[in-house]
Amino acid sequence: MTPDNHDDDKQPPLEVACPECRKKVVWTTDNPYRPFCSKRCRLLDLGAWAEESHRIAGEPAMDEADLDALIDRLERGGQQ
Ligand SMILES: [Zn+2]
Repeated sequence: MTPDNHDDDKQPPLEVACPECRKKVVWTTDNPYRPFCSKRCRLLDLGAWAEESHRIAGEPAMDEADLDALIDRLERGGQQ
């Protein structure tokens, strides 16, 4: 009955498997760690990724704040 709700129930929630531990994760804007199930898994994966990028010559390393900003920008762009 609330006209403000028209965006919320268009689609069923998207489920993804956490890349770190394979647990099912519901992809919502309420989960700041998506596609990971938890902060722990997200940090583990980012840590592995950062180490990997350090081995590629010429690739500038991104710290976590940069990555957060990038993800934030991508998600805003994709949704609005
Ligand atoms: Zn996980």
